[in-house]
Amino acid sequence: MTVQREQLEADVLIVGAGPAGLSCALHLANLIKKHNASGAKPELSTENIYVLEKGREIGAHQLSGAIMNPKALAELVPDFEKSAPLDTPVTDSAALLFTRNSSFRFPITPPPFQNKGNHVVSLSRITKWLGGLVEAAGVNVFKEFGGAELIYQGDGIAGVITEDKGIDKNGKPKDNFTPGYELRAKVTVLAEGTRGSLTKKLVAAKKLDNINPQSYGIGIKELWDVQPGRIQPGYVAHTLGWPVTTSMYGGGWIYGLSNNRVSIGLVIALEYADPHFDPHAAFQTWKMHPFLKKLLEGGKLVRYGAKSLPYGGWYAMPRTHVDGGLIIGDSGSFLDSQRLKGIHLAMKSGMLAAETIFDALKAGDTSSKTMSAFPTKVEQSYIKKELWQVRNFHQSFQHGMLRGFFHTAFQQITAGRGLIDPMRAHAGYEAYKKINGSPAPEHFKGDGKLTFDRLTDVYHSGTRHEEDQPCHLHVSDFNICSTKCVVEYGNPCQYFCPAAVYEMVKESGGLPKLKINASNCVHCKTCDIADPYQIIDWVVPEGGGGPNYEGM
Ligand code: SF4
Repeated sequence: MTVQREQLEADVLIVGAGPAGLSCALHLANLIKKHNASGAKPELSTENIYVLEKGREIGAHQLSGAIMNPKALAELVPDFEKSAPLDTPVTDSAALLFTRNSSFRFPITPPPFQNKGNHVVSLSRITKWLGGLVEAAGVNVFKEFGGAELIYQGDGIAGVITEDKGIDKNGKPKDNFTPGYELRAKVTVLAEGTRGSLTKKLVAAKKLDNINPQSYGIGIKELWDVQPGRIQPGYVAHTLGWPVTTSMYGGGWIYGLSNNRVSIGLVIALEYADPHFDPHAAFQTWKMHPFLKKLLEGGKLVRYGAKSLPYGGWYAMPRTHVDGGLIIGDSGSFLDSQRLKGIHLAMKSGMLAAETIFDALKAGDTSSKTMSAFPTKVEQSYIKKELWQVRNFHQSFQHGMLRGFFHTAFQQITAGRGLIDPMRAHAGYEAYKKINGSPAPEHFKGDGKLTFDRLTDVYHSGTRHEEDQPCHLHVSDFNICSTKCVVEYGNPCQYFCPAAVYEMVKESGGLPKLKINASNCVHCKTCDIADPYQIIDWVVPEGGGGPNYEGM
């Protein structure tokens, strides 16, 4: 279908209104205002900054634990404490070791788990507030618009095409059909979050990969309202051990928010061997530990969400600049995998991108050479300092927790170098072992009070998609699912998806077929990452669809 697209031109187009994208927009708007006020030339306009947000509102797709180190926010909004929705400062940081029936608090909390000076927040609320500041600064924020395709130009990029709206599930235009816009910009900033769908294509097309492929984890989270007195606001605990076995990498969190609200979650590295492993079921099982049971008993599930996160760190950071383009935030691997902190690094990467773009706009040169100031600024900032210390951290755990602890002990005393530097990593999906006929496990059912099945949880994610639209989960070869994957790996998509999107359905006498319940999708990107044949491509659905992580 050939469509006529409206073309809009901007100076800067930022794809994604998360902490990185919004910090980039706000810092750039502030720099432009100061520049114009000084009478310097050329005059620039904040209205020529566009931000795209695929969610129905800013913050709708933002999910994190979330403990925020406020250092980048303090640079961006010096008086942030007056108006930012910070929820509560951390008052106690504990590290707990779980066995099946008991827990043990480490007498001294290891430094990576210490959170003095940080805040327990709702990332969704923080970004919504930041979005308000960005709009007030005159930046154009387009909600319910996703970047569907990149516009390539020469060795770089020159904008994006937003998704077409009003197409039915067979690909035919409906009465409300509206073609996507062709948004052209001098600089396009990819701030799509983890495993960005455009970033993935750009990295592949321009061969921007670093020496290691990106490693990922999946975080599964619930927000609960608990009985008064069960948890102090600001109490923060990280759990190690049960039910995560030593052959895997992962752990849990328990964060006390104000008003008896608690954020709980489990993060698991997407590099486990058993294709039948179900991260959602592991999270539900974790909640059955006596420590969690006591905390949650008599409480109420408020919200659910899941998200992948980039663990790879410095050696998995793609080249972050091309002609007319930058990659920031989780899309660019700006996350400290040891402390599991990414919000301040995402924000700082956005601010450094803004400074790079500001200089490029003034000079009238947005070539790769000018854009290369961005990685230099990153090198000179605390981002490099933090990530360099942990450059070999996550790779150490790719062969299990025990080897990981051995390597990281050496890294602690050698400023991150350890015994091998750089330590190489493999793509997580390569870790699967074949099932060799082992039977498919039953899906976790839950008791409906403390534990839940995936569909009940999806209901609590507020997820909504237009039903009559093309499936946004592109499987390039369904035959592999029915003939090869079913035998070799038992279709792990049925287990790793935390929203029960994938189902193998057997019709009488025929081969099992993959059924995709795309409207359940919570946009965690796990399928795009963890599919053993790499035949699933997550693309943006119609804008406005997806979860609603209000308060998460
Ligand atoms: Fe996550 Fe993929 Fe399932 Fe959507 S379909 S919830 S992106 S695993």
